Amino acid sequence: MAKKKEETCAFCGRPGSASEVLIPSGIQPGVFLCAECADQIHELLGEYRHEVAGGRSTGKVTKGGDKDAINIATLPKPKEICAFLDQYVIGQDSAKRYLSVAVYNHYKRLAQKHQDEGEMADVDIEKSNIIMVGPTGTGKTLLAKTIARMLDVPFTIVDATVLTQAGYVGEDIESLLTRLLQVADYDVSKAQRGIVFIDEIDKIARKGDNPTITRDVSGEGVQQGLLKLLEGSVVNVPPQGGRKHPEQKMIPVDTKDILFICGGAFDGIERKIAQRLNTHVVGYSTDSRNRIDRDNYLTYVAPQDLKSFGLIPEIIGRLPILTHLDPLDRDALRRVLTEPKNAITRQYVKLFAMDGVKLTFTPEALDMIVDKAIEYKLGARGLRAIVETVMIDAMYEVPSGKMKKFEVTGEYVLDKLRKSHFELNKDTVTTKD
Ligand code: ADP
Repeated sequence: MAKKKEETCAFCGRPGSASEVLIPSGIQPGVFLCAECADQIHELLGEYRHEVAGGRSTGKVTKGGDKDAINIATLPKPKEICAFLDQYVIGQDSAKRYLSVAVYNHYKRLAQKHQDEGEMADVDIEKSNIIMVGPTGTGKTLLAKTIARMLDVPFTIVDATVLTQAGYVGEDIESLLTRLLQVADYDVSKAQRGIVFIDEIDKIARKGDNPTITRDVSGEGVQQGLLKLLEGSVVNVPPQGGRKHPEQKMIPVDTKDILFICGGAFDGIERKIAQRLNTHVVGYSTDSRNRIDRDNYLTYVAPQDLKSFGLIPEIIGRLPILTHLDPLDRDALRRVLTEPKNAITRQYVKLFAMDGVKLTFTPEALDMIVDKAIEYKLGARGLRAIVETVMIDAMYEVPSGKMKKFEVTGEYVLDKLRKSHFELNKDTVTTKD
């Protein structure tokens, strides 16, 4: 019927090919509304009527969004979410626990819309965005990605460093919702319950307060812009992003149900935490000072430390769940190499198996890879780079050969790395006698 390619939705500008159907306005020829906008209007109208009717206490809950209704009984419980995370992420128990509870509550909060009746109807569960503080390469992004994979909701990662205040070179804050819309296939109601991971949130800290920050992307202005999104408001999102298409019609997206997870390394925050802890315990029993684990100050990170680092209090207030990630020690790195479901060594075993070759790594080889990651100060991210370097010759030769087995030994790892850029680069930084 009305689904013609060249026709577009008069509301959002989406072409007919990108929508289930374009509905003719019936008033003016050539004016259409797409299914997604129709859904959204239906939902908004339901909410509006619900509000006009006196809010939730009337028990008249909109049926508009029922296709997206969340059934609490089928939601994974925090322990199940955590167990799922355990399959992919090593350690980081505190962050896993906080994330599991926060995500579960987030979805309960979405469900309340559809279930509110009775005496608890007036209790509004507030949104609980999350902020994770931890050294780079310790699993912040991995945690967020894994959660999204489990929940099967639209998920996008944005880097806070590319965001700038409107009018500056860089991306407008709204563009982070463009990505979410794109991964949700422009299904606005789906995008409105998605998860956005904002990486490097520490890089938009106010410069003045922190001497370690060398890059400032108009810090406070971006924080103010972000605030609007975090607290929940209707934002006009350019469907194609950027400012290259000034003619594009904006799609209104309500951020009140979008879960924001922020992550940042907050380099140097340990000093602020230490300062605070040391000042606080003065005058009190020295016991509490002794109990502080001085090797891992991050364990004690508190909202005021984020403030001293340069985040504005309003932003901190909108990120009520604060958790930390631990640095990965030798043991954790060793586990990262082999234990996660898609651990790097397992990926290679699979690649070789596809050529009919049984690949094994000896324990010495694994130890050597971990030792080198530590020696080159590369952390978990470096493990992949090291394994890639070690395996490149074998990956080249083995598929054309006749061997059925291939064993990677400690000696083999050492030999391959000796000739690699890792070792060359190391020489340039190490002072030799
Ligand atoms: P960041 O904390 O900087 O966001 P990432 O989550 O991107 O770090 O980690 C980089 C890579 O290192 C991941 O893709 C993963 O392969 C590995 N990694 C880091 N931390 C862990 C962890 N705790 N468990 C398993 N793998 C990890």
